[in-house]
Amino acid sequence: MSAMRRGSCERELAARWEAEAMAAARRETEARALAALGQQGKPRGKGRGWKRSSGRRADGGGWQRVVTVDSSKAKTSLEALKISIRQLRWKEFPFGRRLPCDIYWHGVSFHDNDIFSGQVNKFPGMTEMVRKITLSRAVRIMQTLFPEEYNFYPRSWILPEELQLFTAQVQMVKEGDPSWKPTFIVKPDGGCQGDGIYLIKDPSDIRLTGTLQSRPAVVQEYICKPLLIDKLKFDIRLYVLLKSLDPLEIYIAKDGLSRFCTEPYQEPNSQNMHHVFMHLTNYSLNIHSNNFIHSDSANTGSKRTFSSILYRLSSKGVDIKKVWSDIISLVIKTVIALTPELKVFYHLDIPTGRPGPTCFQILGFDILLMKNLKPMLLEVNANPSMRIEHEHELSPGVFENVPSLVDEEVKVAVIRDTLRLMDPLKKKRETQSQQLGKTVARKEDVDSKNAGGANSSPEAHLPSICLKQVFPKYAKQFNYLRLVDRMANLFIRFLGIKGTMKLGPTGFRTFIRNCKLSSSSLSMAAVDILYIDITRRWNSVTLDQRESGMCLQAFVEAFFFLAQRKFKMMPLHEQVASLIDLCEYHLSLLDEKRLLCSGVGRRGTVPDHSLPQDTVPTAQSTGTIVGASKLSYSKPALS
Ligand code: ADP
Repeated sequence: MSAMRRGSCERELAARWEAEAMAAARRETEARALAALGQQGKPRGKGRGWKRSSGRRADGGGWQRVVTVDSSKAKTSLEALKISIRQLRWKEFPFGRRLPCDIYWHGVSFHDNDIFSGQVNKFPGMTEMVRKITLSRAVRIMQTLFPEEYNFYPRSWILPEELQLFTAQVQMVKEGDPSWKPTFIVKPDGGCQGDGIYLIKDPSDIRLTGTLQSRPAVVQEYICKPLLIDKLKFDIRLYVLLKSLDPLEIYIAKDGLSRFCTEPYQEPNSQNMHHVFMHLTNYSLNIHSNNFIHSDSANTGSKRTFSSILYRLSSKGVDIKKVWSDIISLVIKTVIALTPELKVFYHLDIPTGRPGPTCFQILGFDILLMKNLKPMLLEVNANPSMRIEHEHELSPGVFENVPSLVDEEVKVAVIRDTLRLMDPLKKKRETQSQQLGKTVARKEDVDSKNAGGANSSPEAHLPSICLKQVFPKYAKQFNYLRLVDRMANLFIRFLGIKGTMKLGPTGFRTFIRNCKLSSSSLSMAAVDILYIDITRRWNSVTLDQRESGMCLQAFVEAFFFLAQRKFKMMPLHEQVASLIDLCEYHLSLLDEKRLLCSGVGRRGTVPDHSLPQDTVPTAQSTGTIVGASKLSYSKPALS
C-alpha cells in the first residue's frame, strides 16, 4: 500500500473512531436516562473485551470509560507511547480528536497547540528553563544562598558576558596555586548531542571567532576524575517526573540508562583533549565509533541499564544506598532551583482562573559519577529521547530501524507508569469499586463473576510502578531550600494579570509599599533607582528585549540587596528568609484587612494605592504565601 493511500486509510479509520465515540457518548446518555428511571443498563457488547473505537470498555458490570490519549504530536516518543497505551488498555487517538482527550502527549513543547482541558505532558517554559545558560543561572542563585548544598553542579561561567570574570578568576587561582592545571569544557547554549562542545586548558583557548556573540555558551570546570567501568567514562540518564508544580510533586524512575564512551579514558592533556569518544558520553556521538557495542543484554555493551551498573558496584562493596540517596538529593535540589521561574512561565500561559490543561513532564537528568562516587549534574533535558529503536546501517547509506531492548525496557516503563500516575479516572474507579464492593458484600446472592470482574484492578496485569515519589516524601528535609520559590510567589503576586513575565516600576513600588520595606533610610526615590539600576543591567545581559521590566532574577537580586540592608550580620540565606517572612506577614495582614472590608461591605476602606492597577491578588497566591510561611528552616539529613 502506498504511503499516501495508507495515510488516507488511517484518516478514514480516525474519522470512524470519532463517529463511534460520539455514538458511545449518546449510548451513555441513554443508559444514564434509563438508570435514572430505575432500569438497570445492560452491557451491550457481550464478551467482546473492550471496544477499540469508543473510548469505553465492556467490563463485566457495564461499559466503563477508558482514558483517551491524543498521540498525534508524540513524534519520536510515539512507539514507546503506543506500547504503553496498549499495555494500559487505554484508547489512543493517533490523529487527534474533535472531542477533548484526557491526556495530550507532545513530543516537543507545551506550545504545540491550544489545549483548554485535560493534561499535557509538557510545562510551559520548561525548554527555556533547562537551556544550559538558564539552568546555570538558576543553580547559581541557589549556590549563592546555599553553597554547600549546591556543590553538585560544576562551577560555570556564562559567555560572552562573563568572559572577563572567568579569565580573572582563573588567573587569580593560578597565581595562588601554580600547580593547579585545570581543564574546562565549553558548551554552546541550547546545543545538544555534544554539538559544538570542546575542552580547553586556558581561558585564552576559547574560540572567539565568529559565533560567541550570536551563540552564547557556558564554560564549566571539567570533571577530570570520573568513575570508570571497564576503563571507560560513562554517564547516567535518569528519568524524573515532575507531576505537579504547585504543590510540588517529584518522582524518580528506579532505573535509567548508562551511556558509555568508546575509547579508554585518560585525564585530559594536550594530546587527547580532542578525542570525543574518550571525553563525551553522548550516544549520538559514540554510535559512530567502530568500538560501539550494540547489545541485547542490559548489562553489557555501550548502553546499559543503570541498575546493572549499581549491581556491579554493589558486588564490589560500594554502598549503593548512599549513591541513590545522593542522586535523589541532587534531583530534588535541581528541581527546587528550576521551579521559581517555571511558576512565572506557568502564570503567563495559564493564569489562575483561566481554563487550561494541567501539566506534567518527564525530564532527563544527565549525571556523572565521580571517582569518589559523588554524583554531579551535567544537564537536564526537557525532551529526553524516548526512542526505542536505533538505526542500523545495512549497506553504505542504507539504514533500517532495529528495536533496542535496553531502551524499550527502561523507556516504556517510564512512559507507562507516568500515565498510570496521571490516570484521571483512577480516583473515580477506586471510589466506584469501593462502593460496588460494599453493595456486593451486603447481597447474599452475589453474582460472584460480575463482582469479581468489576472489582479486579485494571492494573492487575501490570508490573509494580517504576516511579518512586521523592517529593513531598522528603519535603521536610528540603523545604528550607525553597526561598526563591517563595520570592517567586511574591513576584507573581505583583506581576498582575497582563500576561507578562516582567515587573513594572509600579508593581515594584507597590511591593515595597505593601510589604512596608521603605523607611527613612530607604526612600521611594532610592527604591526607584534600585529598580532602574538592576533592571537595566539584567535586560542587557539576558538579551531579552521583547518586553521591558524586571525579570525574576533581577527581582531576586533586588531582594538580596534589601535583605542584606535590613538584617545585618547574618548569613545571606537567613537574611533572605527573614525578609520573606516579613513580606508574607505584611501581605497576610493586608489580605485579612481586605477580606474584612469586603465582608462587611465597606469597600474602599483599604486605600486604592494598596495594589497596582494591574494587580489582582488571587485566593491561590494568598494561600500559597501564607502556607509557605510555615516552611521549616531546619535541615535534617535525607533518610
Ligand atoms: P549536550 O547537551 O550537548 O549533550 P552535555 O552538557 O550533556 O551537552 O555534555 C555532553 C557530554 O560532555 C556529557 O554527556 C559528558 O560526557 C561531557 N561533559 C559535559 N560536562 C562535563 C563536565 N563538566 N565534566 C566532564 N564531562 C562533561
